[in-house]
Amino acid sequence: MLMQLSDPITAISGIGEKTAAYYHKLNINTIHDLITHYPRDYEKWCDIVNIGELQVDHIHAIRAVAVSAPQTAHIRKNMSVTTLRVKDASGTCDIIYFNMPYIKNSIFVGKQYIFRGRVILKNNRITMDQPKLVSPHEFAQNVGRLVPVYPVTKGLSIAAITKAMRSAMNGLDLDNDYIPEPLRKKYHLPDLKSALYGIHFPENHDRMTISRKRLVFEEFLFFIISIMILRDMATQEINDAPMIRIDACQDLIETLPYKLTDAQKKVWTEIESDMCSTHLMNRLVQGDVGSGKTIIAVLAVFMCVMNHHQAAFMVPTEVLAKQHYESVLELIEQYNLPLKPVLLTGSLTAKEKRRVKERIILGTCNVIFGTQALIQEDVDFYDLRLVVMDEQHRFGVKQRETLAQKGIQPHILVMSATPIPRTLALILYGDLDISVIDELPANRLPIKNCVVNTDYRKKAYEFIAKEVANGRQAYVICPMVEANEELMGDQPVLENVVDYTQKLKDALPETVRIAFLHGQMNPKAKNYIMEEYAAHHIDVLVSTTVIEVGINVPNATVMLVENAERFGLAQLHQLRGRVGRGKEQSYCIFISSTSQNDTMERLQVLNRSNDGFFISSEDMRLRGPGDLFGIRQSGQFQFQLGDIYQDAKILQDAQNCASELYTAYVSHNKTPIDAHIPFWTYFEENMASGVDFVNI
Ligand code: ADP
Ligand code: MG
Repeated sequence: MLMQLSDPITAISGIGEKTAAYYHKLNINTIHDLITHYPRDYEKWCDIVNIGELQVDHIHAIRAVAVSAPQTAHIRKNMSVTTLRVKDASGTCDIIYFNMPYIKNSIFVGKQYIFRGRVILKNNRITMDQPKLVSPHEFAQNVGRLVPVYPVTKGLSIAAITKAMRSAMNGLDLDNDYIPEPLRKKYHLPDLKSALYGIHFPENHDRMTISRKRLVFEEFLFFIISIMILRDMATQEINDAPMIRIDACQDLIETLPYKLTDAQKKVWTEIESDMCSTHLMNRLVQGDVGSGKTIIAVLAVFMCVMNHHQAAFMVPTEVLAKQHYESVLELIEQYNLPLKPVLLTGSLTAKEKRRVKERIILGTCNVIFGTQALIQEDVDFYDLRLVVMDEQHRFGVKQRETLAQKGIQPHILVMSATPIPRTLALILYGDLDISVIDELPANRLPIKNCVVNTDYRKKAYEFIAKEVANGRQAYVICPMVEANEELMGDQPVLENVVDYTQKLKDALPETVRIAFLHGQMNPKAKNYIMEEYAAHHIDVLVSTTVIEVGINVPNATVMLVENAERFGLAQLHQLRGRVGRGKEQSYCIFISSTSQNDTMERLQVLNRSNDGFFISSEDMRLRGPGDLFGIRQSGQFQFQLGDIYQDAKILQDAQNCASELYTAYVSHNKTPIDAHIPFWTYFEENMASGVDFVNI
């Protein structure tokens, strides 16, 4: 029986509820989620070599006979080492496994196996470090090819995902391509089926590249089309209740402890005149980290409330919602403002939620802080007229559809620190008017940076200890959440938050309070840790990039990033923006685990500049097309595969294609494009409706 994209993941034979739960952890619920769970990287499988030819630090496969049975030693609590010796005609080598005593049930003396893994020197002997046991069938299938490396989670191996992927792809009917052939020809794109096989199971690099191009193109295309729909809708929207200018806003500006920069003033004027006009505001405020966007948003909220309406302040994380809420509480107290704020987040108890929602619908509060759940769930407003979205434009698109469906017509103000060159911004923010805060407050001390290799760690720890002793705080960023054997591959070790925290506890003085934070923790725990950190009950916070956006703890002066080579420059710049927010000198230490020249050159850009726009354009220039999967991009504009910087050319193509398609549809179809139907549904339903694809 054929599978459908919308089927739950349990439609694959061998995946029951228990395994499905692991998939849910990776945000994979349906077959569609699975086949768009693209490889994070690929490994090239080379042929079997003789033990005599093994090279230290390389990944090799050997075919060898076990000459000793696996022996397990318990070296400390929760840590065992299992070793054995194997041989082939050319020599012997040792094999070592950590915490895998059960391997003895799979390896028997006198039998031959294929082992594949990294070669190390241990006690001066050539040793294979935790190799995979590969069946001859699997080896034959993979040798000479690029083998996908999927993002995994505890309980779910790459092998398991690969197997599920094959079943899903074979079970689906992928012949129906929603990008018609003439368009595929014009933009040199393979068809859907070929692209999906080519991204998951490519024979070679070229096949993977072209497949990826098609899938990126498609992601961009749908995104741009949905933006075009929104833009069309927005220009038709009339503001039936223009606001009036409020003197108290100017008073507030004048009583702030600092003077607004000229750029802030200019942007505020633009917002003010939007809200007073007869059209709805759809505005993006773009400004580098630390340029002072929050106060501009607060002014807009204040103006809305003074006009007797409600305003919502939406942010991507609960932690950030809480932070904004508390800083507004402070303002209210300080200046005696008539704002009545509430905080609505997932970690409230059911009873608290009910009470807050009641206040929102009754209008007894006028500023509502929360995550995007604010306008999705069963929240009804008394009179919502302004939605501020901080740091989350990608959500913005969908959110506005939701708002439109709810029949609410608020002004929209989107705040973003993602530094995007103008040409890209015009495409990605095509539905918005753009204001730019292109100036930082004058009183800032520039952050001191260094880019170093792992040898520098000891010094870095001493430095952190010194800053902490002086009453400052530090962040340490690791790319992974927890240790994962599958991820070792032929790449440098990726530091993980859980183990690293222990490592730091061992390295730093006992008095230093260290805690960790990552995206897989529950919201309550995350909030708690963030509050403790903000209250300075924690000195060093080891975290994944969840703290990347918006977090404001001015007492933090050190940002140390491990595996800096794994992150995009724009994202590193964003991370750096978490320090240097107070009056103390701040420092940023980027530790790279590779000393390859191009990586170092790329990271050095951060050393030379603190300007987000310059950094993102350099990032684009330095990251060649060969670098497809190695780098993580920043949280915003996170497409599954596409990277707005590196795939700028594809983005441009998709933009052209989208314009052509849009015009063709609008001029040929009686059915107007409707934002309530996903574009691809529309696309499929109307495919045969007379659009001449050959000529567009
Ligand atoms: P971002 O643009 O990254 O969101 P914030 O709005 O969080 O930046 O502002 C960062 C810090 O700068 C805050 O502590 C804020 O109070 C302060 N700030 C904002 N505007 C000014 C200004 N014109 N002069 C001095 N400090 C400012
Ligand atoms: Mg901000």
